Amino acid sequence: MATTPVDPRVLEAMWPYFTAHFGNPASRTHAYGWSAAEAVDRARAQVASLIRATPREIVLTSGATEANNLAIKGVAEANRDRGDHLVTCVTEHRAVLDVFAALERRGFRVTRLPVDSAGSVDLERLEEALAEEPVLLSLMAANNEIGTLQPLEEIGRLVAASGVIWHCDAAQAAGKVPVDVAGLPIDLLSMSAHKLYGPKGQGALFVRRRKPPLRLTPLIEGGGQERGLRSGTLNVPGIVGLGEACRLGGEEMSTDSARIGALRDDLESRLLDGLDGQVRRNGDPRRRLPGALSVSFTGIHGSDLLLALRDLAVSAGSACSSGTGEPSHVLKAIGCDDVTAAATLRFGIGRFNTAGDIDYAARRTVHEARRLSAPSVA
Ligand SMILES: *Cc1c(COP(=O)(O)O)cnc(C)c1O
Repeated sequence: MATTPVDPRVLEAMWPYFTAHFGNPASRTHAYGWSAAEAVDRARAQVASLIRATPREIVLTSGATEANNLAIKGVAEANRDRGDHLVTCVTEHRAVLDVFAALERRGFRVTRLPVDSAGSVDLERLEEALAEEPVLLSLMAANNEIGTLQPLEEIGRLVAASGVIWHCDAAQAAGKVPVDVAGLPIDLLSMSAHKLYGPKGQGALFVRRRKPPLRLTPLIEGGGQERGLRSGTLNVPGIVGLGEACRLGGEEMSTDSARIGALRDDLESRLLDGLDGQVRRNGDPRRRLPGALSVSFTGIHGSDLLLALRDLAVSAGSACSSGTGEPSHVLKAIGCDDVTAAATLRFGIGRFNTAGDIDYAARRTVHEARRLSAPSVA
């Protein structure tokens, strides 16, 4: 999903930290500072607990984009004496791929692993790449366009055997499906509050405490906050919101994912049944985020369908974020041609959607797709 609304319970938790408790957690000499510092400590523990990390392993950032930049640039630069070979995958988010492109311009060598038609990373190619002893592997937990969950257990076995530093972009997965850094050899993991019903502009990077310590060059220098890894006055309300969003995500994960998964399955079967042979599902049906649905239509212009459905919060299969209208790199990687990619819609189903919403989305989509594919009378 591209984003989520803030859960009212998250907003409730954040509210006092704009007004009554406005202190700077770095001010250790008065009660205002202490109460802000306590709130940050509590939130840090809530973030850590969601992924089974310890609070000291959490670096608070402005979002997953910054967390990805810190992890990838920070490791690449601090470990340049170990080599210049870095590995990632073709279906990563732009906030990973563009960081690697920037490092390539600075002289690093980047291997981009392919995926199969369901969007799962090619494990044989991963094994081959790891045999070359790269410094860093960046491989995500769940894809933001098609919802495919990467096989983290299998990847973990290959990573553990190789000793590579593994960064995992879990912006989509955290709070939706179990993500467990205690059970996987993940060294760095990115999260974003606004993907789990928290505020925009707040995220976190898990940095594993290990011996010898992971070497990481900070992106932002200054007052030395976050153990020198991310300077700048902390966004206390945002951090409290991230913490509460993580707490709720952990507590409600199993009930939410069962309910949301059932809504998604209902929408999917209504589209497949209502548009017989004209619609195809993308991603891995067995291993997918519960709220993700990506479908491609045949015989319909994607831009016409998107325009007809502008009352629904669907996204197209083009890279709308860059505003170029270029076909999505993820759909291309799973084998979609440009026409099919343009006629692809992404539905995000979340905590606040109801059966009524699904019914409306299914009826509207089937109606418009039938209308747009009917032979023109002119
Ligand atoms: C949204 C998203 C990001 C970027 O997160 P921000 O907090 O918006 O910077 C990175 N990676 C993935 C997989 C995402 O879905």
